[in-house]
Amino acid sequence: MATEGGKPHTAEAVSAPPAVELVQQAAAEQKIDPYTVSGARDAEGNIKAIDYEALRQRFNTPALTDEHLKRFEQVTGKKPHRLMRRRLFFSHRDFDKILDAYEKYGFFLLYTGRGPSSGSMHLGHAVPFLFTKELQDLFDVPLVIMLTDDEKFLYTRNKNEGKPTPGAALGDFIGYAFENAKDIISIGFDRKKTFIYTDYSHMGGHFYQNISEFEALLTNNQIRGALGFDGSTNVGLNAYAAKQCVAAFASSYPELFGYGDFRPGNWAERRPRKNVAAIPTLIPCAIDQEPWFRILRENCDRMEFPSPKTALILSKFLTALQGPGGKMSASDANSAIFMSDTPKQIEKKINRSFSGGGATKEDHEKYGGNPDVDVAYAYLSYFLESDEELSEIEEGYRKGTLSTGELKKKCISELQKFVGDFQERRSRVTDQVLEDYMTFRKLEYKGNPTPTVP
Ligand code: ATP
Repeated sequence: MATEGGKPHTAEAVSAPPAVELVQQAAAEQKIDPYTVSGARDAEGNIKAIDYEALRQRFNTPALTDEHLKRFEQVTGKKPHRLMRRRLFFSHRDFDKILDAYEKYGFFLLYTGRGPSSGSMHLGHAVPFLFTKELQDLFDVPLVIMLTDDEKFLYTRNKNEGKPTPGAALGDFIGYAFENAKDIISIGFDRKKTFIYTDYSHMGGHFYQNISEFEALLTNNQIRGALGFDGSTNVGLNAYAAKQCVAAFASSYPELFGYGDFRPGNWAERRPRKNVAAIPTLIPCAIDQEPWFRILRENCDRMEFPSPKTALILSKFLTALQGPGGKMSASDANSAIFMSDTPKQIEKKINRSFSGGGATKEDHEKYGGNPDVDVAYAYLSYFLESDEELSEIEEGYRKGTLSTGELKKKCISELQKFVGDFQERRSRVTDQVLEDYMTFRKLEYKGNPTPTVP
């Protein structure tokens, strides 16, 4: 319970003790980058909720406005997805330009990914993928999904000062990547328009040529500045930034657009790359990934075959079970609901999650609850489709007419349904289906099949 002494909550101060790991990570300032997500601490040392407005200003990424949503609706003819309507995707870079490009050329490239840190994805990972699927369906565009097994191996070794740890051998990450690919397929992506790869199995050819070129553009100082690395960071992790960045270029995969073939003898042929370099890319991801793509955007026009600055649409984090000062993360099993969890496990986890309800039934009825810090309410805002139902729940909870128990019950049943449906689809993803998505091939989508973007 978050309420102390019957006082109503404020969105800033979250007084319940979050996970030990989060407490240790938290600094006076909030810290958000691809490797750390933590709210700031208040004077008493408690972790505060993440301040997304402050973060957006620090990263200097524009807000997603009503105008963007209107334009999106005009271009697609569909109401924006709930994650966009509720500004859970809340910020962007050049989203307008992607809509312009779509109107002009009829397509763009979608790129997103996952660092396979565990055998099963969690609900937080489902957020960018759910949204990406919506974009793929609405725009009928090609999609590339990168599984960074190499990065997770390098990162884990780096964290453990180079020492091997159980479950973190190189081969373990390869295994997690393939399991995660099955999870991703189960979100429902259209096979004809989707290419999924793991770094260890795919890198080479045009992709690797782009990597080398990008590596030649970056200095260690730039990487350190953006990602907080220092001289003791292993060489692999420093070099990894170029791989993460050029994965966004259509020119890393001309074959997906019908240019060139994949025979090793053709890999030095550069024309295919030139033909597709001008295809614009949109990356849906949570805002912790933004530092990678800042490096990318700074260098798009410095490539031999320049690409437009990559566009981003950025989400907030599905909060940790312990409260809004941290994100749901696979590295802290207590923070997460995994896509492999049973209905019973989901029920237990939500019942123990951080609540914005009153300390006692009487307090709750008198002062109301605070949905702004309540985990069950936060999860409903991501997964409950009906805007009307969500706003009734919010109102009832603030007034105290809806109890914490009732709110949690609703959250449990929504999540059990979401995860149950996912698991049903997952049971049908055979090794053959996996191979189909992971075969490097020409993708089939509406719009310009062999693009000639100037
Ligand atoms: P974890 O700590 O759980 O392994 P991660 O940040 O390392 O998480 P990635 O696999 O690198 O996870 O992230 C894949 C995508 O999922 C990225 O777009 C990332 O921003 C997003 N993501 C990860 N955790 C969350 C979360 N709790 N809520 C929303 N998006 C998330």
